[in-house]
Amino acid sequence: MKLNDKIAIVTGAGSGNGREIALELAREGAVVAILNRTKEKGDKTLSMIEENGGKGVSLEADVSDAKIFKEAISKVIEKYGKIDILVNNAGIFDGQETFPTTDEEAFDKIISVNLKGVFLGTKYALENMLENKYGVIINIASIAGLRGGTASPAYTASKHGVIGLTGDTATKHGPDGIRAIAICPGMIETAMTKDMLEDPSEQTKELIESIPLKRVGKPEEIGKLVAFLVSDDARYVTGTTVVIDGGMIS
Ligand code: NAP
Repeated sequence: MKLNDKIAIVTGAGSGNGREIALELAREGAVVAILNRTKEKGDKTLSMIEENGGKGVSLEADVSDAKIFKEAISKVIEKYGKIDILVNNAGIFDGQETFPTTDEEAFDKIISVNLKGVFLGTKYALENMLENKYGVIINIASIAGLRGGTASPAYTASKHGVIGLTGDTATKHGPDGIRAIAICPGMIETAMTKDMLEDPSEQTKELIESIPLKRVGKPEEIGKLVAFLVSDDARYVTGTTVVIDGGMIS
């Protein structure tokens, strides 16, 4: 197993990509702390890990709330003594909203979860990683972080920001033994895209048809990629973005 003795935090691990990332890291031997807004969903992921013989803990944490998020990270350090891996995955989506249809509150909400949440997680987990001179931070961005026109203004801005934070982390803390990588998924089959995929508009059908691999992605495929990138097999990979989109933006 690639991740024996590693302690990992995965935010938003109560559903979709986060749940599959948590399951895959646990399969590879990591102890996984699941931080999710709704505790019951995180507990469900933890029970799935335990059924597979893995180990972890489930903590309620809203990543946009600095005090609560910091406390949750501190609890992980108290319980396990260190953090080796942080996956900043928690995120929300406001569909195909446009500038005229996005109000200020909606913009602030997306930025505070998708972007500020990554800043806070990195800031608090790094304190411990810097002491240990070891850490891997994976930030789940999106292809909307690489180009405009694929999502709403708020979501697009938040994911561009996530890629910016990733580069800053990797550059400033590479010398401290920290790696940071942004993953940019295309369209993945999760609760976030359920409505779009269950009742696809002509635009969605065309979008799927335009994907060279002719299908949407599965959250398990995100889990596998993360497990590779956080492992020592990827020890020379940092400060970059990895696109996983079936060729959608190629
Ligand atoms: P999802 O199934 O809706 O899962 C999102 C998870 O994040 C849920 O467990 C949710 O918990 C949690 N969450 C939301 N707000 C939170 C907060 N403030 N604090 C802590 N946890 C919070 O969506 P997903 O598709 O797996 O998305 C995961 C990540 O992948 C996001 O960053 C998303 O932007 C990114 N992504 C997804 C796609 C896609 O096509 N699905 C494409 C590109 C990027 P609650 O339900 O309790 O709120």
